Parts: sequence; structure tokens; C-alpha cells
Amino acid sequence: MKELGRRCSLCNKKAVVYIPYQRRYYCKDHFVEFLINKVRSTIKRYKLIKNRDKVLVALSGGKDSAVMMDILFKLSKDFGFKLAAVHIDLGIEGFSDESRKVVEQQARRLGANLVVVRLNEILGVGLTELSRKARRPPCSVCGLVKRYLLNLAALVSGASKLALGHNLDDIMAYALKGFLTQDLRYISKLGPSTESIDDLAVGRIRPLYEVYESETRLYAQLLEIPVVKSRCPHFRPNQMEVELKNVINDIEQERPGMKLSFIRRFVRNIQYYPGINEDIIPCKYCGMISSTGECSFCRLTKRIFGEPMGPRAKRYLKDLFDVQNLWT
Ligand SMILES: [Zn+2]
Ligand SMILES: [Zn+2]
Repeated sequence: MKELGRRCSLCNKKAVVYIPYQRRYYCKDHFVEFLINKVRSTIKRYKLIKNRDKVLVALSGGKDSAVMMDILFKLSKDFGFKLAAVHIDLGIEGFSDESRKVVEQQARRLGANLVVVRLNEILGVGLTELSRKARRPPCSVCGLVKRYLLNLAALVSGASKLALGHNLDDIMAYALKGFLTQDLRYISKLGPSTESIDDLAVGRIRPLYEVYESETRLYAQLLEIPVVKSRCPHFRPNQMEVELKNVINDIEQERPGMKLSFIRRFVRNIQYYPGINEDIIPCKYCGMISSTGECSFCRLTKRIFGEPMGPRAKRYLKDLFDVQNLWT
């Protein structure tokens, strides 16, 4: 841990971090408390979780979702909600096995129930092969598959909320990307939460909406939360999101707090982006949410396998979830 040579602004212990937008130094304990409180006020500000909610946490193996789980666990008594975790094993060689093992450690550490959904067991192929067959970039197929399976898992599990680990830097980079590519419909999907729609979609929440990426990184380090060490082989450092994050952080350095004020104004303005009131027509194959009557998962798999795989995914998940014992 970096030695700052300063004392915590709240007690006399050694500081481990300086938070420029607060002009405060924190020791380990006070930083952990600061971040828990930040998530607590995010949940209240955006009304993300209610008493008696069943919150299904999507764990990827990375630091953000792990930190989210850790903090939600600590807040679950105060807010009176239940927690369980789900992990999508994408079957990416040299990456997914490690991710799954780390996620299992993360869940065990908290005594949380975890369900692992294996793409291979649904489709007979992993993500890499699927994107090759689809002739589409792995990251776009990955996003589509994860969105679909997470929503399906949340529905089948009886969850009332699906918690995603996107942090403030992620959201801001996605929003800028949406602006630069003029995909304004995409921007409309970047709010702190979405509503549940009966039998079609479980409301998504983003408890780390106001949390900086540097803050989740430090929290994971300080509490020695296990996280995946290797990078996904499909990751490219020149992906637009990555470049945008660097630019955003350069600006933040000169103007501490810029990211926070962005996100708060963004939430107020999100209603003006197109796509917020999109049509909702259940998929004719699997009955899940879509805007055209054919969901993107069924469309993609029908093109590749000659058969839409949504119904099969649904059966697989129903067999997988022991709903009675999930929400303890
Ligand atoms: Zn302190
Ligand atoms: Zn479908």
C-alpha cells in the first residue's frame, strides 16, 4: 500500500488514500466506511432497493461486482433485503475457469448462495466459438448473451432486482461512446435502474453508480477480496471505452468531482434520450422481453444453429435453480 505520509482527516491513523473531490485523507477503516456510506446514499438517492427485495447479484470475478456484493452484504440488514449471486460461465478458454473459481471464493467468503450458469451447457459451445460462428466481435456477443442470461436467471430465481457492478467510470465511458457514435438509444439505457416488467424483465440496479473505479480497486485491495488476475483474451486496450476512461480521468485530475457532477446531471437528463419508451413485445420463441417480437438471443442463435435457443436456456435455468433454498 502506498505510504502517503499523511494522517486520516477523521482520526489520527495513517492515511491510505486522498479523495480530491472531498479534500480528505482516509485511513483504511475510514475509507471502507466512506465507500459503504457512498453506496448506501446511492441506493437511497435513486431508490434502488426496497425492504424485502430479493437482490440477485451478477458476479463476474472482477473487482467491481465483488466489491458491490461485499457492500450490499453489509447493507442488507439495514435495508432488509435478501441476497444471492449468479455467475455466467462463458466458457472462454484460459479465462472462464479462473473466473468461476474466484467467484466461488467470493461467495464463500460471505456465505452467500451462488448459481453458476454455463453457456456451454446451454449451447454446446463457449463464447469464443459462438462469436466466430456469428461473425461478430466477441465483446458484442458477450454483452448480448450476458444480458439475456442474467435477466432470465433473475426471472427464474424469483429475484425482484438484478444488481450490476457498473461503476461511474464505466457509465460515463459508455455514455460518451454513445454520444460519439450517436447511438442515443444506447445512452437511454444507462440510468441507475430500470423497472421490472411482469414475466418479461427483472429491474436492474447499479449500486456503484456514483463510485469511482479507483475506489472499488482500493476497497478490494484493502479488504483482500479475491479477484480474477488474468485478463479476458478478447480484451483490447484500444477499445473505445478504455481510451475514453483515460481521457475522463485526465479531466477529473484537473477538475476533481467532475465525474460526480456529470452523473447527477446525466440522471436528470436521461429522459430526453430516445429509446426510453421503446415498444415491448414478448419474444415469440422464448417469451422474454424484446422490442420486435424476436429477442436478440433467439435471433442470433436461430441464425447460427437453425433453432432459437431461448426456450432451451429457459428449461436449463429452471432445472438449475433451487428457488426454495436460494433466498436464505
Ligand atoms: Zn481514520
Ligand atoms: Zn427469445
